[in-house]
Amino acid sequence: MDPILQPIFDEVLQRNRGESEFHQAVTEVFDSLGPVLAKNPQYADQAIIQRLLEPERQIIFRVPWVDDAGVVQVNRGFRVEYNSALGPYKGGLRFHPSVYIGIIKFLGFEQIFKNALTGLPIGGGKGGSDFNPQGRSDAEVMRFCQSFMTELWRHIGEYTDVPAGDIGVGGREIGYLFGQFKRLTNRYESGVLTGKSLALGGSLVRTEATGYGTVMFAEQMLGTRGESFDGQRVVVSGAGNVSTYAIEKAQALGADVVAFSDSSGYVLDEAGVDLDLLKQVKEVERGRVADYVARRSGAKLQTTGSIWDIPCDVALPCATQNELPEDGAKALIKNGVKAVAEGANMPTTPEATTLFQEAGVLFAPGKAANAGGVATSALEMQQNAQRDTWTFEQTEARLTSVMTSIHDTCAATAEEYGSPGDYVKGANIAGFIKVADAMITMGVV
Ligand code: NDP
Repeated sequence: MDPILQPIFDEVLQRNRGESEFHQAVTEVFDSLGPVLAKNPQYADQAIIQRLLEPERQIIFRVPWVDDAGVVQVNRGFRVEYNSALGPYKGGLRFHPSVYIGIIKFLGFEQIFKNALTGLPIGGGKGGSDFNPQGRSDAEVMRFCQSFMTELWRHIGEYTDVPAGDIGVGGREIGYLFGQFKRLTNRYESGVLTGKSLALGGSLVRTEATGYGTVMFAEQMLGTRGESFDGQRVVVSGAGNVSTYAIEKAQALGADVVAFSDSSGYVLDEAGVDLDLLKQVKEVERGRVADYVARRSGAKLQTTGSIWDIPCDVALPCATQNELPEDGAKALIKNGVKAVAEGANMPTTPEATTLFQEAGVLFAPGKAANAGGVATSALEMQQNAQRDTWTFEQTEARLTSVMTSIHDTCAATAEEYGSPGDYVKGANIAGFIKVADAMITMGVV
């Protein structure tokens, strides 16, 4: 690590004990910043890194609610308002039993740079709860969301902090959250949440945006080597929002998507994933991947081993952090993978990332490749502010141009800082400079 950054990192470990995912996210950014600090001493002089590392505000709160059996349940809620140099805090809410402050901080920290890369006026934040929606009835999810918003409402607003979805938070949860916000504030403030259903002022393409954007980024990356998705064999992990629409876009571009997964196992479907069936099972019935296999002859469910053992040309990890470890990278490289694009946040471990880069595999980090979701959230905010609704085609065209611009910015920045083709460095440096310059302009605040 750069000698200027090492003592700062030691302090990160000291001040944020036990938050391993946060440490990992910081390390990844720090590994890119040495040349930037050498070229721009004002960032160190102004303690920009130390200020960036400390969230502007962290809110942790009790979320009590009553389950269907009449039992009182208590969860913990989080909102980390990380950095508002470029605009209101913006980032999703995650409902998953693994959630604790270290996960929310890693996600919020990454979000600052991702949002900067979109070129849109949004700061970085993230939130969530250790609530597990799996197996809960709609009524339980509604009561939980209402209790969660009963604290959160006082911290958010269209000019302050605009949450959206993430793992475990989709259109249903955003609807319940918005309903409670409206009831508590007596304001129909559409721009306070994004990822809303169309009836509540949501944007077309928001549902598809993260998955589509990831594939658009990967398509651009493949293009630098004269390739495209057409005819490629693709493996996608996860079976949620990002995975489903990554599969849809990859198939639309002519790819042969043969596998997906959830936390119960992975499915190999050599005939090509039946997307209508996957949507029916996952989005409509909220089922498991086994329910897909039960209705699809030829598809096989594996509950042991790794999805990354399946030979493919393009791998799209779209489930969760650290799901693609060193062993997975070795198997993918051995089987000739050409490109890896992260639909999820930090799904590839640092060791695996290094292996891909050393092997010359095209590698797109999540903070660039999955920025299409938050970019389209910002477009939703624009439509809400204008009381307007754009067409699917118009919104998808904006998404395409944002993803192309992010790709080109990352590529150009990597080249400028002496690491051509290194999208990790390109994304970290370009995102950092944008935020750092805005912070300097505002003085010490
Ligand atoms: P969903 O809840 O819709 O889907 C998540 C999928 O990942 C599910 O199939 C889930 O399986 C699987 N998964 C989650 N946690 C684990 C785990 N610990 N082990 C194995 N599988 C797991 O979430 P999204 O699709 O919205 O999010 C997926 C990733 O993309 C996350 O990293 C998120 O931060 C990132 N992301 C999402 C954006 C969005 O717009 N939604 C924007 C940018 C990034 P199961 O149901 O069995 O738990």
